[in-house]
Parts: sequence; C-alpha cells; structure tokens
Amino acid sequence: MQAIYYEEHGSSDVLQYGDFPDPEIGAEEVLVEIKAGGLNHLDVWTRKGMPSPEEMPHIPGSDGAGVVSEVGDRVTRFEPGDRVVVDPGLYCGSCEFCRSGEQSLCVDYKITGEHVRGVHSELAAVHEDNLLDLPEGTDFVRAAAAPLAFQTAWRMLRTRVGIDQSDTVLVLGASGGVGHACVQIAANEGCEVFATASSEEKLDHARACGADHLINYEEDSFADEIKELTDGRGVDVVVDHIGAATWDDSLSAAAHGGSVVTCGATSGVSPETNIPKVFWKQLDILGSTMGTPGEMDDVMAKVFDGTFEPHVRDVLPMSEIQQAHEMLESRDGFGSVVVVPDEDYDPSDYE
Ligand SMILES: [Zn+2]
Repeated sequence: MQAIYYEEHGSSDVLQYGDFPDPEIGAEEVLVEIKAGGLNHLDVWTRKGMPSPEEMPHIPGSDGAGVVSEVGDRVTRFEPGDRVVVDPGLYCGSCEFCRSGEQSLCVDYKITGEHVRGVHSELAAVHEDNLLDLPEGTDFVRAAAAPLAFQTAWRMLRTRVGIDQSDTVLVLGASGGVGHACVQIAANEGCEVFATASSEEKLDHARACGADHLINYEEDSFADEIKELTDGRGVDVVVDHIGAATWDDSLSAAAHGGSVVTCGATSGVSPETNIPKVFWKQLDILGSTMGTPGEMDDVMAKVFDGTFEPHVRDVLPMSEIQQAHEMLESRDGFGSVVVVPDEDYDPSDYE
C-alpha cells in the first residue's frame, strides 16, 4: 500500500508518502480502505517526538474514515463494503476504569497515530470496537475531520464541566479543531459563548459556529475584555487548551465559583499558578482527555445529523502531507486539514 510515514522525528520534511507493507488484521480487527484522514495538532507533536511512538517507522494520523475491505474471524459488527469512521482511543478493557465505563481514564490509554501506528495510509487495521458505522449522507472528508476534536470537546464540556444553558462559556483559540467544536457544543446547549481568535476572519467563522461575543486576542487582553463584557463578573467556564501563554488570564477571566478546563497546552506546559485566584474564587480546575466510546457515539451522532459541523479548511492528496502539516503549524486557517489517498484525490470534489 501507499502510506504516509516517517523514520525519525523532526520538521515536516521527515514526512514521506510511499510504499509500505500492508497491515495484517487480527481476529477482532477490520481492514479499512482509508478514503480520508483528518489532521490534528497531535500529529505535529508526535512527528516532533513529543511523545515518541512505540515503533518506527511510524504512520501518523488519529482520524480517518473509509470502507471495510476485509474482516477478522471474530468480527461481528462489520462486513466488506461497510462505510466506517475510526475512533482513535485505545484502552485495555480490563482495568478498574475501563470496567466502570471510563475508558479514557484507562491506566494504559493510548491514541491511534500517537502511541501506535495511525491511519494516514491507504489501508489500516482497526479493532472493530474502534469503528462506527458511517451513515450515507456524511462524506468521508467531513467524518474524518471530527472524531478526535469533537469527542475531546464533548467530554470537556458535557461530562467534566457539565454545562447547562445558564452558563457563560469562554473558548480560547476558537479556530482550531477542539476550539471550534467547543463553540458549537456550548452554543447548542444554549450557553452564552465568548470566543477568542487571532484575526477578524477567524472570528467570523467562530460567530458562524455560534459564538455570541468575539475577542481578537492579538488586539486586546482577553481577560480584560471578559471583565468588560461581563461587568466585572467573569465567565462560568473557561476552555483553555493553549497552556502557559493564557493560563493566568484564564484564571482571571473565570467568575467566582467558575471552572477552568484544559485538554492541552500547546504554548507550554508549566505556567505559574496564582493559588489565591484558585481558592479565593473557589475555582474548579478540570483536566480532560479524549472521550469514552459512549461519548464518541453521542457526539458523532450529532455530526452525522448536521447539528455539529467539522470545518475543513483544505483537502490535499496524501503525497502533499508535508504541506498539510505546515498548514496546521502556521495556524492560518479555520478548522481541519484532511488528506486523501492520491489514487482517490480529485480536487473538483472539494471545491
Ligand atoms: Zn483500562
């Protein structure tokens, strides 16, 4: 098969697209002909070696959708020809957390494309528990842009924070995969949504996703803007996946009794924390990672029925994977980049 792979960590030029041995499926696995692979910032971090996958050469890619071409002997839910989308979360199934239905807390939790070989290739072997039926009416590109970002956003807001319509929610970095998913989920819940981004164009997209208040963080301190927009009160919920660069302002922007929830720290992992802001305001600081299979089902049902829209900024052939990673790193656009096997790539499909 043709696959995207790299043999060492580094800048985007370590990425190659070429011949790679076909994967072999186990008894509970399904061979999927990948029709579209969605990119996440996680692909960039993993390429740089943070963290390093278990085996080299590594095939990147957590998100993908395609068609079943072969099934293992013990597979019961799928047959060749079925349209499917990949759930990238991998868990042991037997630890105390898995047994209580909290698979993303698994003591041996892994992510497809991060710790083990991913799905940015013509063929991928995927455990049947990690596949969802992809209904007619949702195309492969749209489906492949959603799973990692939307399950992460869903768990953060619905499960960890437990938002309801009385909440005011600030989403930092609303133009990224997780950010634009959070805006849509909070808006759909009936929350008043504040969104930050670095340009007017990105903020227009955030408004289209349901944001009520737009803050250009290149021009204004978002903590000051929130204070002004809320008469000094702050917001009930701050979604901060930026990290060191925004952490202190996130604590400032939260209202008394509010929550700050994080699923990532792209700008740095060790900011200072002003502890009095936490105890005096009685803040809840919440961490969140990925989602459970049930959360994946719930949020993808709302992607399939059109409630949520995973925005795709560009679709490229897999052979242009270097450019795809660079687009992600430049943070210029709004939403995901999706790659398609060169054999299937027809630019007129994506206009
Ligand atoms: Zn487990």
